[in-house]
Amino acid sequence: MTAAHRITVADTDVGFDCVPGQTVLDAAEAAGWTIPYSCRRGACTSCIGTIVSGTVRDRRSGRPDGPDADALLCQAVPDGPVGIRPRRITHSGPPRRRELTARVYRVRRPAPRVVVVELRYPIGRRIPFRAGQYLEVRLPGGESRPYSLANPPRDNDMAELHVRIEPDGRFSDRTARHLRPGDLLTVEAPYGDTTVEPGTDPLLLLATGTGFAPVRSVILDQVARRAARPTTLYWGGRDESDLYLLDTVLRWARALPWLSVHPVLSRPDRTWHGTTGHVQEAAAARHPDLTGHTVYACGNPEMTREARELLTTTTGLAEERFLADAFVPVDAAPTPAPTG
Ligand SMILES: Cc1cc2nc3c(=O)[nH]c(=O)nc-3n(C[C@H](O)[C@H](O)[C@H](O)COP(=O)(O)OP(=O)(O)OC[C@H]3O[C@@H](n4cnc5c(N)ncnc54)[C@H](O)[C@@H]3O)c2cc1C
Repeated sequence: MTAAHRITVADTDVGFDCVPGQTVLDAAEAAGWTIPYSCRRGACTSCIGTIVSGTVRDRRSGRPDGPDADALLCQAVPDGPVGIRPRRITHSGPPRRRELTARVYRVRRPAPRVVVVELRYPIGRRIPFRAGQYLEVRLPGGESRPYSLANPPRDNDMAELHVRIEPDGRFSDRTARHLRPGDLLTVEAPYGDTTVEPGTDPLLLLATGTGFAPVRSVILDQVARRAARPTTLYWGGRDESDLYLLDTVLRWARALPWLSVHPVLSRPDRTWHGTTGHVQEAAAARHPDLTGHTVYACGNPEMTREARELLTTTTGLAEERFLADAFVPVDAAPTPAPTG
């Protein structure tokens, strides 16, 4: 058997082993360490870290990186012993993921391109998770697709998924659209390091389309905790059908004094009298000073990227207070790791 490579974390006494072929992110997780990540597909850049010594290879392109270069740690397979400097590393213990077969309980179609699927786990089975995490739906043949958990963490004997139908999409169009109560799906959860932890600092939520799913979990979690954290949601889409549960969230906003909701459309029809444009621009215009806020952005990867850039450069928002879940498609082109 080939020996494992030792990974050391610069400026700390943290070290762990990485078996040949394993990525740095997977090895860290197996050893009980969490490095920030979101898509695990080499597209969202949440897991970028610096290779300070040794070299790694991008597992898809085979391109070598390091020493002294940034790499996507979810794709980086070490060639030998490697020193890394991730954005953050915390001890969390090995992940407690569970795979199980869930039963479809209810399917709704709140808009032509959105399916809401409620799954129930087998009796007595629960999957603890935190608001902002996601599950992986297993597809025949070994592929899987991530979907954010839209239910609050308290309801951990079930999962609610909000799936946008992508034309000819393997799961969304060919499977989710045809699901019926009683159908079975194999799922594994929880995944995701981007979570919104309880706090009292003001929270700004940005969502496009089904990026509302994890936001729903965050809001309902605060309701369950009886929290009164000032929370503002900007929910954007092209037209009104993308805001598929707008009536519900506007009703929440009327009932909850700590919540305000702003719908934003980029291509509205003439009957629209609300805000037009993109959520990140609408939020920056109305909140020029986001010092001390936490921002959580979910949905279209372009929105999450532009929101990070705009809000951290123009509103005083601290980089580490910007959290994002980019809904990157499985076949998205890998993001080249910036050098330097
Ligand atoms: C962490 C994470 C959480 C996610 N959570 C959600 C969620 O809660 N709800 C949700 O709807 N999606 C979510 N996604 C996206 C989801 O995982 C799938 O990528 C998406 O549903 C398409 O899967 P599919 O099998 O239907 O299509 P595929 O068979 O993977 O793709 C079919 C074709 O559609 C294209 N395509 C796929 N997605 C898009 C897109 N968004 N825009 C343009 N073209 C696209 C692909 O490039 C491909 O050409 C999430 C992604 C990540 C990384």
